[in-house]
Amino acid sequence: METTNKNIVILGGGESGVGAAILAQKQGFNVLVSDNGQLKEKYKLDLNAYGIEWEENGHTLERVYSADEVVKSPGIPDTVSLIMTLREKGISVISEIEFAARYTESFKVCITGSNGKTTTAHMVFHLLSKANFNVALCGNIGNSFARLVAEDPHEFYVIELSSFQLDGMYEFKAEVAILLNITPDHLDRYEYSMDKYAESKFRIIQNQTEQDYFIHNLDDELIQNKINNKQIRAKQFPFTLEQQLAEGAWLDNEQQINILTNNKQQQTTMSIHDLAQQGKHNAYNSMASGITGSILKIRKELVRESLSDFQNIEHRLEPVVSVHGIEFINDSKATNVNSTWYALESMDKPTIWIAGGVDKGNDYTMLQALVKQKVKGIICLGTDNSKLHEAFSGDIEDIYDASSANEAVGLAYRLAKKGYNVLLSPACASFDLFDNYEDRGNQFKQAVRGL
Ligand code: ADP
Repeated sequence: METTNKNIVILGGGESGVGAAILAQKQGFNVLVSDNGQLKEKYKLDLNAYGIEWEENGHTLERVYSADEVVKSPGIPDTVSLIMTLREKGISVISEIEFAARYTESFKVCITGSNGKTTTAHMVFHLLSKANFNVALCGNIGNSFARLVAEDPHEFYVIELSSFQLDGMYEFKAEVAILLNITPDHLDRYEYSMDKYAESKFRIIQNQTEQDYFIHNLDDELIQNKINNKQIRAKQFPFTLEQQLAEGAWLDNEQQINILTNNKQQQTTMSIHDLAQQGKHNAYNSMASGITGSILKIRKELVRESLSDFQNIEHRLEPVVSVHGIEFINDSKATNVNSTWYALESMDKPTIWIAGGVDKGNDYTMLQALVKQKVKGIICLGTDNSKLHEAFSGDIEDIYDASSANEAVGLAYRLAKKGYNVLLSPACASFDLFDNYEDRGNQFKQAVRGL
């Protein structure tokens, strides 16, 4: 491999950083991976296997500042002094996704939104795999995009993109861009400005041309306001549950989902009740996935089949088990109010709701009507539950605190009656009592299975 003599510094040695390092090495750059924390053992092994230089527990600043380009992990905010200094020095700072895209000509389906990214990415991947496309799933999930481009290239990539990744993207172009929804999340990284956060999400359509596609949620007012004030070159396919369309995806009066992108003969029609994943939010996710399939000219029968046999992923409204007629549901991934809204909305039985954790400035008013209608008791699972008590004690008599998954499940089980649901959908991050949302979901499931 020819060398470029260019120095690339990768800040952050997680999955994206290590993927970028492997790709950069293969492309002949001088590479240094620098992390201010400790690298995981498996990443050290990866880097050593490629003979890539790395450092942990701090950055050698003269090395960082002599870089020709820096690839930054999405976890590092733009406001830390290291990044601000790099920018002042005129050194380009990009994300791993931007870097990797330079070295592939493959077709990229990119998915962003405040909620539903992972679910939709899996749905699209499932559909393309069923249709025998040579496709890989990456981005925020599993392998990084850069690692795949370096080690295991594919003709199609389904890429989940967070706003932090989008922030470091400039020349990148998505052939298909899906924007699911924009609701408050991570505002601490956007100077508490919804507009700045929304602009970050809209970077998903930057550089798109008339040959590309933009799939978006017609029922999301914020998205539509932004679209009305932008010049969009890509071909647009909206999806909606609230009106009939001539193109895109919509629900008709017979409760049929319709998906149409070009050829009327290939219009997919299926009952909303046949979707494998129920709930309004999953109808949106399914529509966005179905439009992608239609754009890629996948047969309508296959689109229908894949939307009706998609197996949901762990921790997203995951049915755990039924104990004495009480259904336990694990939605630990619901880390903001909006995702919990959809979880509660989809409850078709009286529900004991387990909520709480680390609140990112939550406003619970949007949940009040649903809670009043569906919730019979609340178990607060966090170290500080005062905001939950404040928001709901007027409507719900039974509100109890718990400080472990076991305790929460025990209390919920006591409150629930035959025919009830017990739903863990915290609307909060998990790190006051758990390692992460997976740990929270797993402990919940374990406690349920121990009943
Ligand atoms: P993300 O990758 O964007 O965090 P996930 O697919 O992991 O999204 O889902 C996160 C949470 O949001 C889960 O609780 C899930 O049930 C809920 N959810 C999934 N799709 C949507 C949607 N379209 N709108 C709102 N909430 C959703």
